[in-house]
Amino acid sequence: MNVCIVGGGIAGLTLAYCLSESGNNVTIVEKSPSIRTEGYMIDFFGAGYDVAEKLEIIEELRRIHYPIESLAFLKPSGSEKYRIPYQSLRELLNQRHFNFMRGDLEKVLYEKVRERVMFRFGVSPEQIQEDGEKANVSLSDGTKLTCDLVVGADGMRSKVRSLTCKDEKEPIRYMGYYTAAYIIEDPAFLEKIDKSFYTCSEPNRQVSVYPIRGNKVATFFLYRYPKQQGHVQKEEALEQLNENFGHMNWIVQDLLEAAKEAKDFYFDEVSQVELPKWRTGKVTFVGNSCQCISLLAGQGASMAMAGAYTLAKSLEEYPNDLEAALTDYERSLHQDIVKLQKSARRFASFFLPSSWWGIFVRDALTRVSVWPGVKKFVNFSTVRLPK
Ligand SMILES: Cc1cc2nc3c(=O)[nH]c(=O)nc-3n(C[C@H](O)[C@H](O)[C@H](O)COP(=O)(O)OP(=O)(O)OC[C@H]3O[C@@H](n4cnc5c(N)ncnc54)[C@H](O)[C@@H]3O)c2cc1C
Repeated sequence: MNVCIVGGGIAGLTLAYCLSESGNNVTIVEKSPSIRTEGYMIDFFGAGYDVAEKLEIIEELRRIHYPIESLAFLKPSGSEKYRIPYQSLRELLNQRHFNFMRGDLEKVLYEKVRERVMFRFGVSPEQIQEDGEKANVSLSDGTKLTCDLVVGADGMRSKVRSLTCKDEKEPIRYMGYYTAAYIIEDPAFLEKIDKSFYTCSEPNRQVSVYPIRGNKVATFFLYRYPKQQGHVQKEEALEQLNENFGHMNWIVQDLLEAAKEAKDFYFDEVSQVELPKWRTGKVTFVGNSCQCISLLAGQGASMAMAGAYTLAKSLEEYPNDLEAALTDYERSLHQDIVKLQKSARRFASFFLPSSWWGIFVRDALTRVSVWPGVKKFVNFSTVRLPK
């Protein structure tokens, strides 16, 4: 089968890996000139970990993993409130957990497929038409691809979705938060922190900092913002960060200053995608384009991999019946994703409380969660993978 995957993110690359393993011809259309390295540290567990085992990439993931020693929670002044060893959190997940930078996972997946998949970097689809037998994708450089299946793996603001689901209303649900992440290359920053993941919270905003390889420091900002904005330029994003975090103590002023020079600056809204139907003709979707649960669920990359694996298994199960395969894919996953999205919405105000009382409760529950004996009451929801 000839498959055109639009989007070379974690979902697109995982799908390309699975489909090329089973002998399909895969082309990835990616609008960026190369794979994208931006992003922050992700927790990787649950279904994503299971897929990584099936794809036999656990050793590669172990190499990009960061053995963070502890999570340290700070008062606004910068003094420490409490700290929990990361090892106890990993114990809650039976040690089936990694921490790595989002971009590093993309690099691992890219290395796996680069020799056996055709990459078309720097282009985007302009039109998708079907003639009964095939789907024809017209690209922004004037060329065309003819294929049996088109997969929109192009993220939350999917172009494939806007080209093929024209009558549907925009399926993006804004959750009321913005996030920024960037890397500081000045090694002097390392003197301000040890090998821990530091989080300093105030009602409606929090900033985290942690060391990464190469004597660098990574940052992660999250804040509540009442209205959804369109595309935000870096200058404007910096202004918003200053408005929201400029009054904070600790090392926040230095972090904001360093943001001006940061190259891989990531800034985006926190939203979910609730696409009612995941397929139309010879087009389907995978990852954030159809099932984004938002970073507040801490499983975006894991779910992207789970979705890609499930789709590949359904296509294997029904090799001569595309409609049956796509129906099977959607039936296997969609309801579980809806449940995860609901729980992510419930979890949002726990993750970023809007009052000091909320912060107190969050801190208390976080501390209790790693007490001996509590493990059996802690449940990390995930999705079921096909057998
Ligand atoms: C730069 C970046 C940084 C991120 N950082 C984080 C993070 O730190 N933490 C976190 O939890 N999540 C982050 N995310 C989101 C996270 O990667 C996803 O939640 C998850 O991995 C799902 O992946 P995905 O492949 O479905 O979507 P995405 O990761 O969004 O990947 C979509 C891909 O499609 C490409 N694309 C978009 N539009 C087009 C188009 N018109 N034509 C061709 N290609 C297109 C994009 O360039 C991108 O490579 C980030 C996403 C990006 C793109």
